[in-house]
Amino acid sequence: MALAFDEFGRPFVIIREQEQKSRLKGLDAQKANIMAAKSVARVLRSSLGPKGMDKMLQSPDGDVTVTNDGATILEQMEVENQIGKLMVQLSRSQDYEIGDGTTGVVVLAGALLEHAEALLDKGIHPIRVAEGYEMASKIAVQQLNKIAQKFEFSKDDVESLVQTCMTTLSSKIVGRCKRKLAEIAVKAVLGVADLERRDVNLDLIKIEGKVGGKLEDVELVHGIIVDKEMSHPQMPKVIENAKIAILTCPFEPPKPKTKHKVDIDSVEKFEGLRLQEKQYFTDMVNQCKDSGATLVICQWGFDDEANHLLMHHDLPAIRWVGGVELELIAIATGGRIVPRFQELTPEKLGKAGIVREKVFGTSKDRMVYIENCANSRAVTILIRGGNKMVVEEAKRSLHDALCVARNLIRDNSIVYGGGSAEIACSLAVEAAADTVAGVEQYAMRAFADGLDSVPMALAENSGYQPIESLTAVKAEQMRDNNPYLGIDCNDTGTNDMRKQGVFETLIGKRQQLMLATQVVKMILKIDDVISPSQYD
Ligand code: ADP
Repeated sequence: MALAFDEFGRPFVIIREQEQKSRLKGLDAQKANIMAAKSVARVLRSSLGPKGMDKMLQSPDGDVTVTNDGATILEQMEVENQIGKLMVQLSRSQDYEIGDGTTGVVVLAGALLEHAEALLDKGIHPIRVAEGYEMASKIAVQQLNKIAQKFEFSKDDVESLVQTCMTTLSSKIVGRCKRKLAEIAVKAVLGVADLERRDVNLDLIKIEGKVGGKLEDVELVHGIIVDKEMSHPQMPKVIENAKIAILTCPFEPPKPKTKHKVDIDSVEKFEGLRLQEKQYFTDMVNQCKDSGATLVICQWGFDDEANHLLMHHDLPAIRWVGGVELELIAIATGGRIVPRFQELTPEKLGKAGIVREKVFGTSKDRMVYIENCANSRAVTILIRGGNKMVVEEAKRSLHDALCVARNLIRDNSIVYGGGSAEIACSLAVEAAADTVAGVEQYAMRAFADGLDSVPMALAENSGYQPIESLTAVKAEQMRDNNPYLGIDCNDTGTNDMRKQGVFETLIGKRQQLMLATQVVKMILKIDDVISPSQYD
């Protein structure tokens, strides 16, 4: 316990320790933190690259996830340690900003910390290491900008976009049909993109999954798919030129807000009540019909009475449609979400060329397609797959591909993958380190070594000798002055990533470098860890 005395000589406690708290100070704190971060990074290292391994994670309630996506692995790992959580957040930030490269950023941060540890052992002060890393990251980013290339695409020539999405997908479980998925991702993004403003609203792309069929059956629908069916089996299955009432009010009699008591002691009274209830439903249905609606999409359910009436009045309906879907439908069909029946007017109805219910397989699985909408910008990608795990993983992989395509539309600069960009940066940082007089030069060299860990991990995961492969490629890059040489993970016979067509976005790679450096600096600067002792 740290004690101090006030002006009257009375003791008071400044920091209470030992009893409830455990505390690590100085180098011990840094070492423990580095250790924690490294062990998180180690988990992801084997997942990096096209030959990376997948992880299977089981949640406490028994759900199984098989994935290759760094952010998802960390998210589901339930990391307890505070520093470990920083790594989880690192991956999440990359996912949030860029959407791809979530494994790479953690592997890089882990490698940078590993090399920082060696410097701390040599007695170099953590602040000097942090400063050296900052200098090195600036040089690396400059080098990235230097080796980046612009690549051109137009609405008709999207091959380069497809290629980049394929690089992202190649490392995923769904790599088997990466061409098809990449094409669909690019089409979807271009469908909702505003090429003049270079902006893409990914909210307009909905990814829907349905277990069954195979991965190759993935389809892009220019409209919305809702995983629901018509509320009554006898309602029409196809509605052309639909006018849609989008409702958030339930088809049921209003419920009294305060307690009331109704005494029903005679048959007449019961009949009266029943008729009144029916009248409510009939009024509601009529209000919909009067507005001109030919289809009702309802956020809430309705009971059999209402369902029956809707069917009788030839008003098809879909119930239990989620809030997010409802919004998308409203955007796509140009309709308004209506919270009260009284507010329904013809202008508030959404319009769609065709609404149809599609049956899948021999099962009773049905989905509703809303196509040829008034505002045709919203699209849906329907993913099929043999089981839930594949469908979920395909959704995640497709999300990465969509993000990559969006990033390219925002900024069409690319760098080459396969570790080539990291090696080029590492060479630049090493060269710059020679010109720095201070202790920082050691840190810069360590940073360069950290960068080398990415191609090393790629080589290791592909079954090559990591150090040999790295040194060979590095020497070749130096000799030919060619920054596009990387690790030939797929054994194609060339390590020129331009020939292999392995691209990554410049903003993604830059973000990886900057985020990893920031987190490493942050961890290095912590020299006191005070935590509740139960976590000892
Ligand atoms: P992340 O979640 O970080 O995107 P991935 O597992 O997708 O991680 O691996 C991406 C890494 O794999 C990148 O460094 C990329 O350059 C590399 N990569 C992808 N495809 C290939 C390929 N065909 N040949 C060599 N490297 C590749």
